[in-house]
Amino acid sequence: MLHLLDHQAVDDRGLFIADTFGPTFQGEGPSLGRQALFIRLSHCNLSCGQGPGARWACDTAYTWDFKMHDPQDPKIRRRVLLDDLMAWVKAHTVRLVVITGGEPLLQRLGLERLVAMLHAEGYEIEIETNGTLIPSEDLVATVTAFNVSPKLVAAGGREIQRVVPAALAAFASSGKARFTFVVSELAEFKEIADLPERFAMDEIWVMPEGTSADMVRQGMRTIAEEALACGWNLSPRLHVELWEDKRGR
Ligand code: SF4
Repeated sequence: MLHLLDHQAVDDRGLFIADTFGPTFQGEGPSLGRQALFIRLSHCNLSCGQGPGARWACDTAYTWDFKMHDPQDPKIRRRVLLDDLMAWVKAHTVRLVVITGGEPLLQRLGLERLVAMLHAEGYEIEIETNGTLIPSEDLVATVTAFNVSPKLVAAGGREIQRVVPAALAAFASSGKARFTFVVSELAEFKEIADLPERFAMDEIWVMPEGTSADMVRQGMRTIAEEALACGWNLSPRLHVELWEDKRGR
């Protein structure tokens, strides 16, 4: 998949994107319920749901699974100039911009430039990342927050790809990271519990896996007591409760 990130993609004039959408609500984590604009970038360096032992599937596989989704189709992947993304953002009154994926840090140069442009205009910027790539100093300086979501065994695939110690330590020391874990069963709390001390993670959020409102609500009830006992924060997934797995909400 990475070969598709050709020289045009890694300059700083544009980004490969799957979607721009909003205003909508930030559906999870510390900014839950706030109005936000979303820019969803293409490409990912993981393939959750496809490795041995996977117990859930990536709900945005169209951003990276180009065996199943045609990357030449502009509804799947298109290159957009940063000036055009800024014009789209500025056409709205919302001041929070969430850059998600896929894995946004794969398109490092364009991402850094876009975040610098947004920062210069006074926007709040959250980047949602799987925490496997080290953020640059420039990115740390200009972003408002990283929502870092390390992938657990249930995502499938090899640990060496899912958990990159240098990257997790860099996010933790940035002072701007909130670590968010999507939990599919209570047994995963043990797996999460090793990480905060190992990487000096401060702020931990857990949220239930699920693609329907019923699954999310039931998951919240299942994990609430254990989250309290661990001293972690609990988040619903508001976008799933409102719109289930509809793309672009
Ligand atoms: S890291 Fe996120 S976008 Fe990438 S495959 Fe996993 S769930 Fe999907």
